[in-house]
Amino acid sequence: MKPNTDVTAIRRAEFPILQRSINGKPLVYLDNAATSQKPLSVIRALTDYYSYHHANVHRGTHSLSQEATDAFEQTRKATRDFIHAAQECEIIYTSGTTEGINLVAHGMSGSLQNGDEILLSLLEHHSNIVPWQLLAERIGALIRVIPINAKGELSVRDYEKLLSNRTKIVAVNHVSNALGTVNPVKELIRLAHGVGAKVLIDGAQAVPHIQVDVQDLDADFYAFSAHKMYGPTGLGILYGKERWLNEMPPYQSGGEMIDQVRFEKTSFAPLPFKFEAGTPHIAAVIAFRTALDFMRDVGMEVIREQEDMLLHYAAEQLAALPGMQIWGTAAQKASVLSFNLKGAHPFDVGSILDKMGIAVRTGHHCAQPLMKHYGIPGTVRASFAFYNTLDEVDALVAGIKRAREMLC
Ligand SMILES: *Cc1c(COP(=O)(O)O)cnc(C)c1O
Repeated sequence: MKPNTDVTAIRRAEFPILQRSINGKPLVYLDNAATSQKPLSVIRALTDYYSYHHANVHRGTHSLSQEATDAFEQTRKATRDFIHAAQECEIIYTSGTTEGINLVAHGMSGSLQNGDEILLSLLEHHSNIVPWQLLAERIGALIRVIPINAKGELSVRDYEKLLSNRTKIVAVNHVSNALGTVNPVKELIRLAHGVGAKVLIDGAQAVPHIQVDVQDLDADFYAFSAHKMYGPTGLGILYGKERWLNEMPPYQSGGEMIDQVRFEKTSFAPLPFKFEAGTPHIAAVIAFRTALDFMRDVGMEVIREQEDMLLHYAAEQLAALPGMQIWGTAAQKASVLSFNLKGAHPFDVGSILDKMGIAVRTGHHCAQPLMKHYGIPGTVRASFAFYNTLDEVDALVAGIKRAREMLC
């Protein structure tokens, strides 16, 4: 467990927010699964764009607009490379994972019938439940739920039993935001394709932590958010196989997404523009490229190693404390530690930690069905980024001990 000097240097140089004090204590930011902090390079890319390069994209013949459009499209290329998509037109800019899933749920509605089935898992975020429920209600389709085992892992055997030729869509997360379980999505996708179902992967918690290759996974759709991977808020990416995206109707309509508009009939722009109505979040898109470069420069291996080290150290320390309940002990885990202090409400634990400068998330983590399954109101969740330190884990442990003295 040697501290990586490079990481320490990057933390100091790129994340001024991590030098802040909160409630008179050094900030210990352990809420990275909600959103990561932004490196100065990304912040500079935003101000640089607004200061010197701002113009609307895809419209002007003037040079400034061309410049903005070029930078906007460069990010698409960089994103394609980052997740190894086959083509740039398969990368759709959205406002976030939530919008990406809604876009697909909307677009798939024409290919479902009464009695068809949509498979979700017990681990899903509300964003990957509610859009499918609304779709199912509209169509008379059924939602079926893949159960989990005692460690918080999806039961592949039960999944296989649920799959049938009625299954039209499987929508599961790659990494659970509530437990950190890394799901065997490649296997899940292969099995779904065996019955002719399409698969949407909610990758919001995966892309920040592990190298994702959408072609290797053979995912039909893969959605994620820039703000959880060192990029700006208000931007997400939806990857979809070209063929499926071409078959789907537009989601929103208006400017940018049309080819020709007549009052009798409008024809739509080709991919990806068919799904990008209106003026997009240009600044976020352009700065997102810098976020991708940042992750490349740090290195996905370093990110993964560092986060694994923090996670294992924290899991060990917490498990040794009396009165701890740890939720989710999957063999494959990423970056998330969910726990409760027996006899204490998670909110109270979170409030005491906050007084000590420690930022964690408390509550149901947008995964109420999972909390109901465990019969708890919620958990305390510490989630790590590569820039966190072992000292910060020690601060968390000290904070939990303090909370126990006060609450239990
Ligand atoms: C954060 C998150 C979402 C929602 O992402 P938004 O950026 O809020 O749209 C969906 N699924 C998972 C697993 C998440 O962690």
